This record gives sequence, structure tokens and C-alpha cells, in this order.
Amino acid sequence: MVIEKERERKRIYNESPRGKQIRLRCERNYNESPKGKENRRKQWQKRRARKLNVDFWEPWMDIVWEQMKIQTNGYCPLCHKFIGVDKLTMDHIIPLSKGGIHRIDNVQPMCGSCNSKKSNKLGL
Ligand SMILES: [Zn+2]
Repeated sequence: MVIEKERERKRIYNESPRGKQIRLRCERNYNESPKGKENRRKQWQKRRARKLNVDFWEPWMDIVWEQMKIQTNGYCPLCHKFIGVDKLTMDHIIPLSKGGIHRIDNVQPMCGSCNSKKSNKLGL
């Protein structure tokens, strides 16, 4: 019952002009942060994978993915440049367009420029 009330209070606050403004500002900051960018990219990949019917991603794979990134120490495995764990992007080893699936065993961390270079080479 208390939770219900709390939720209602939050809903009212979120819908008030002040709440909306603060929420918008938070969202904007979040979207521009590396974490937000990464998340947006992830969401986009998920949508694409779902569209192609190759979405086999499960929630626990997020944790494994984070570990994979940490294991690189922030270095791109391809060009060995240091870019930081937060800036590593998700690359599909077998591209979705070539029959690859969106699952932990088909992804690897990579820097943004290697990732886009690879995409160009494969003609995606
Ligand atoms: Zn690289």
C-alpha cells in the first residue's frame, strides 16, 4: 500500500511541469554520456536483431558483456589503441546481415573506428 502511494506521488511529480523539465534534463545528460550512448547503441542493435529475427540476447549476457569489456582494460583488441572501457562498442563477429545472431558468443568489444571500418569492409 505504501509502495502504491509512493508510485502515485512519483507519477504526479513526473507529470508536473517541473518534474518534466528535470526528467528531460536528466535524459539529455544521460544520452550524451558514454554510458547513455552505449545504451542507445545497444537498444538500436536489439531492435535491428529483433527485426531480423536473430535476437537471442538474454539479460544475464549484459553482465558477461561488461566483463568482456573490462578484460580488454579499455584497449581495442584490433588496433590496440587505448580508448577506455566505456567507449568500447559492440561488434557482431558474424554480422547480423550475414546470418549472425545477437547473442553473447557472437559479439566482441571493439573501438568505434574499427567497428565502422569493419562494417564498411563487409558492405553493411
Ligand atoms: Zn580499434
